[in-house]
Amino acid sequence: MAAICLLWAAQASAGPTSTRLVHAPGEIVPIPASIPHEEGDMVDKRILGDLRWIAARYPIYVTDGYSGPLPNGEHVGCNMCHVKDSDHYNGVAVDLVPLNGTPGKCDSTWAPITRLAEWAEPLQNQPVPPFRWIGYNGDAGHGCGNHLHLSWQHAPAPMFQLAEWVEVFPTGPAAARKPRPSSPPQKLPTGPPGGIGTIHSGGVSAHGD
Ligand SMILES: [Zn+2]
Repeated sequence: MAAICLLWAAQASAGPTSTRLVHAPGEIVPIPASIPHEEGDMVDKRILGDLRWIAARYPIYVTDGYSGPLPNGEHVGCNMCHVKDSDHYNGVAVDLVPLNGTPGKCDSTWAPITRLAEWAEPLQNQPVPPFRWIGYNGDAGHGCGNHLHLSWQHAPAPMFQLAEWVEVFPTGPAAARKPRPSSPPQKLPTGPPGGIGTIHSGGVSAHGD
């Protein structure tokens, strides 16, 4: 019973409370200055809202996002750093270290990163949606003093191609908006047809660091 209560408490405090699927077309874009990052790093723009939200709450520094070629032929991101089928090749993963932290040493500067990792993955190998894979303590080549990897759930996509959809957690004013019971249903805000849905299942597949 105690274990069940602990499990419930961990899940109640972890991760976003809701997620949605974004079917709007993606694009590999530069990470904005509001999200501290290594110069030149880029991601699929559909995860920028979540990254902004995270950066506002945790002192993160992005060391890698999209890894692959750009339409203009240039290469962006860390080359040959990631595993086969890495989500970095689709622009829906980031590697993080503490902003102004101690590289290579697991000290107190990593505490907020550890909290972020535990928020996104309260139990090992059970990331909370919309996260697909979390690389931290317990994962080779990741962890306190090394780096935190966050991947977002996305439609299967070949290397260096954008996913048809990406799962994110809503942020900003729209996320706080609640349907008013007094409004006729047809006046409620709606997404594009077939464009936005809510799912609650995550699913764990081969990791994507
Ligand atoms: Zn990674």
